Amino acid sequence: MALTNLQDQAARLPRKEFNFFQVERLFRAVEWIDHHAESCADCQKARGEVEALTERLVELATGPNESRLELENRVEALFEHLEKAHGLVKMQYFTSLFSLYGLASSLFLAVLAWMISDDFELALALVGLGLVIGYVWGSFRDGAVRRSNLQY
Ligand SMILES: [Zn+2]
Repeated sequence: MALTNLQDQAARLPRKEFNFFQVERLFRAVEWIDHHAESCADCQKARGEVEALTERLVELATGPNESRLELENRVEALFEHLEKAHGLVKMQYFTSLFSLYGLASSLFLAVLAWMISDDFELALALVGLGLVIGYVWGSFRDGAVRRSNLQY
C-alpha cells in the first residue's frame, strides 16, 4: 500500500531527481519497513513517516536546497534504523572497508619490511598483496550479504 503510493509519487519526479535521490533505494526501504513493522515498533513508526514523506516527495525533491536536504536526511534516518536494527548493509560496504584495512595494515608491514630488508620491491609487493586480500575478503562478505538479501 505504502509502496504503491510512493511509486505513484515517484513516477511524477523528473528523471534527474529520481536518480539523484536514489528513489529505487527508497522502494527497498519501504519493503523492509513493511516486513518488520509487525515486530518492530520503530518500523511501525517509520510507516507513518514514509506516508508523510510520500505525500511531500515531489515537493521536497524539486524544492529549494533545504527541502532537498530534509528529504535526504529523512531517507538516511530510515536506512540508519534498518542498518542498526535489521542488519541491512550498503552495497560495496565491506569491499571498501576491507580494502582500506588491507591498505592500511599492509602499508605498515611494507614500511617495516623496507626498513629491515631495504628491499623496496618487496615492500611494494606487500602493499599490493594487502590491497588484494582486503578487496577479495570484502567482496566475499558483500556477496554473502547480497545472497541473504540484506543489501541495499
Ligand atoms: Zn525496525
